[in-house]
Amino acid sequence: MPRGLDHHLKTLRIPMGQWRNTGLIPPVILLTGLAGIGKKTVARYLGQWLLCETFGPSCERPCEKCSSCLSISQGLRLIELGSSGASGAGQEDSESDHSNTGVLKIDQFRKLKEKMGFGSDDQVSKVILIPSADRMTQQAGNSILKLLEEPPQGWVFILTCNDPALLLPTLVSRCIRLSLKPLSPSILEEILREKKIASGRVAICSALSLGSLGRALLLAEDENWTQRKIIAQFLAEPGKHLQNLIDWATTHPIHFDLLLDLVEQGTHDLILWSTPPQNGAHAWRQSDLVTEFQSHAAQVEKTLGSKDAARNFWVSQNERLSEIRLKSFAPVNRKLLTQDLLLPWLGVSA
Ligand SMILES: [Zn+2]
Repeated sequence: MPRGLDHHLKTLRIPMGQWRNTGLIPPVILLTGLAGIGKKTVARYLGQWLLCETFGPSCERPCEKCSSCLSISQGLRLIELGSSGASGAGQEDSESDHSNTGVLKIDQFRKLKEKMGFGSDDQVSKVILIPSADRMTQQAGNSILKLLEEPPQGWVFILTCNDPALLLPTLVSRCIRLSLKPLSPSILEEILREKKIASGRVAICSALSLGSLGRALLLAEDENWTQRKIIAQFLAEPGKHLQNLIDWATTHPIHFDLLLDLVEQGTHDLILWSTPPQNGAHAWRQSDLVTEFQSHAAQVEKTLGSKDAARNFWVSQNERLSEIRLKSFAPVNRKLLTQDLLLPWLGVSA
């Protein structure tokens, strides 16, 4: 069992017990939680449980040995709707839902209906995973809503999303929602050590990931670890590092998302630093980059004339960042969004 799944099973135990006791499996399950927290892993586990040939959903757990369980663990049996279409093959296991570059389109649902037909028996025969449902186009959302009004017999839909506020409320109301909880820092650090992440990276990646294993692992990768430092250096000397960050964020949606995450985390730290009574004694989460953050903070304070004005600047940048994140869900020019995000920082530091 993947590490982290045992943590999420605490959330699943009660609803799975109820479904087992009543024999009523909800036709639409919505898994919510931070990007990289393990939603697809949990969805696959539920898929195994529902389709297990040895045990089936009347048992407490899947056998993880039958051909059905094995093919789901390899991503072959779940039908996964995503940017690559309803191919029937799962994308592999990076858990980076937020890296899903595409938006779900109405065509994929049409193809799915044509391909799958409708089941006729009472047993669960198809489990359809719809990752990143918060990135569906409105048209696709309406299309799936229509499908879910009368779910085909024997089909179970598992939707995942980071932010349910972005889903159609009518869609959410048709789902049984399970919210996955962040991993505690101690469990997360334990897993990172098991995965042989360099010891100097463990605490920082854990602190920046907010309890998401996928995000912590992503941050620990060499390239991202280096870029994290460049983001802090950008705060201290924006003109020098602007182009590097724009180029990096434009090359891949994961980079763009990471840039947003890291600027957001850095800004949170700066706001906390400037907020009494912690003033001056703030424990920076990126303990290796304190010099850069302090240099940036001192410059902003000097440019804007006071700590309060500096704090207002950081708060306004956080609001701006949320807007940019929302815009990034639509197919837009990431280069322009990155410039939008970074350019205001040039006016407040050297
Ligand atoms: Zn099985």
